[in-house]
Amino acid sequence: MICVFNTLTRKKEEFVPLKKGRVGMYVCGPTVYDHDHIGHAWNYTTSDLLRRLFEYNGYKVKQVMNITDVGHLTSDADIGEDKLEKSARERGETAWQIAKFFTKIYLLDRDKLNLEKPQVICKATDHIKEMIRLVQILIDKGYGYETNDGIYFDTAKFKDYGKLSGNTLERLKEGARVEINPEKRNPSDFALWKFSPAGKKRDMEWKAFGKMGFPGWHIECSAMSMKYLGENFDLHTGGEDNIFPHHECERAQSEAATAKKFVNYWFHTRFLMVEGEKMSKSLKNFFTIKDLEDKGYSALDLRYLFLTAHYRSQLNFTWQSLEAAKIAREKLNNFILSVKGKGKVNKNYKDQFLSFINNDLDTARGLALIWQLLKDKDISDADKKAAILDFDQFLGLRLAKLKKKKNIIPKKIIQLVKEREKARKDKDWARSDELRQLIEKEGFSVEDTKNGPIIATFFCGKKSTW
Ligand SMILES: [Zn+2]
Repeated sequence: MICVFNTLTRKKEEFVPLKKGRVGMYVCGPTVYDHDHIGHAWNYTTSDLLRRLFEYNGYKVKQVMNITDVGHLTSDADIGEDKLEKSARERGETAWQIAKFFTKIYLLDRDKLNLEKPQVICKATDHIKEMIRLVQILIDKGYGYETNDGIYFDTAKFKDYGKLSGNTLERLKEGARVEINPEKRNPSDFALWKFSPAGKKRDMEWKAFGKMGFPGWHIECSAMSMKYLGENFDLHTGGEDNIFPHHECERAQSEAATAKKFVNYWFHTRFLMVEGEKMSKSLKNFFTIKDLEDKGYSALDLRYLFLTAHYRSQLNFTWQSLEAAKIAREKLNNFILSVKGKGKVNKNYKDQFLSFINNDLDTARGLALIWQLLKDKDISDADKKAAILDFDQFLGLRLAKLKKKKNIIPKKIIQLVKEREKARKDKDWARSDELRQLIEKEGFSVEDTKNGPIIATFFCGKKSTW
């Protein structure tokens, strides 16, 4: 039995699929206008773990992920420039170029984090027709209405509005700011489709409803999820910040259009904190995968750190915790590399592992079980290795693909050592010292012996005779 916390009911529920043995899941993908930070990585990694959880339990999963390569307004008041066009203008490129570039970076980051590739990756710009069709249905059914600057969804007509986030119409009315568009019937009404501002040529715009325009913030996810997974599907994942307004609006427009339940289980990952603070541009605590790599960490160290926390807890990222994750992962890697021979997966441990992760994705206890297993004197190393490799199909730490690090001395270092030998023969001690410093700068040391110099790397302490 698999249990997941459902945001819609605010309860942990037993997962019952629509079709036996199958899961259809949709993940809100990135808006490709900038680098993703580790908060995004945390969200995508938990979606990946949820998918792996089902696969590990024998389900056949269809995972669909969108790439938001158009639209996404900078404010929920539905005004202003959208993020892609803004980024394009700032970088002196077109929105199409920006989207293509950051999609590539995003997919590379996914690979580094060892996230499984969704069966369907769909770009918003490839689904404009589907979005227009959906907006037309909403107009025909009386949910969509036209204003000067676009077509809006009438939230007062959809009685369930606010059920997912708890932001009911009444509450939103109380907290409403001064409305920019006085034609909106309710403050909570949101744009389904926007018209291009008069006299302004956008990089991305399409002809629909008699004018040039572009999709609203939420419509793409309704159009694409229903296209690939059906009007009612099992699971929708995303970050906590997606609940409102994005998922609330997605749900409203989908259910209004089909008169069916849209999603059975809504799964949300909490915010990631950095050094005890919320990530923000002003605090400069936005870290990307590349920032981590520049400091000598691998994306898999970050994945390990994610596994130590529960997706509904507020994970606090610190460099210290990343260092601890790196050390732990290295220990685990070394164990796997050091054990030879094939063992068997211990049933007791496997059952325990399943009971942890099937309980609302409790990865932390699953991971802790591995360390308990490593200390267990009654189980052979080969059996331990077999169990850990089995668990790693879910954990995704790439343990089955580990290779022993070869202790290779770069050509450049060998060349420097040769030069130094020559300087020593010529009794040019100043030059010899200078070369030693150059070698040490590269992370190597050189030791003079009767049989010639020995080069060692500072990093792993291994020695190799040249
Ligand atoms: Zn979405």
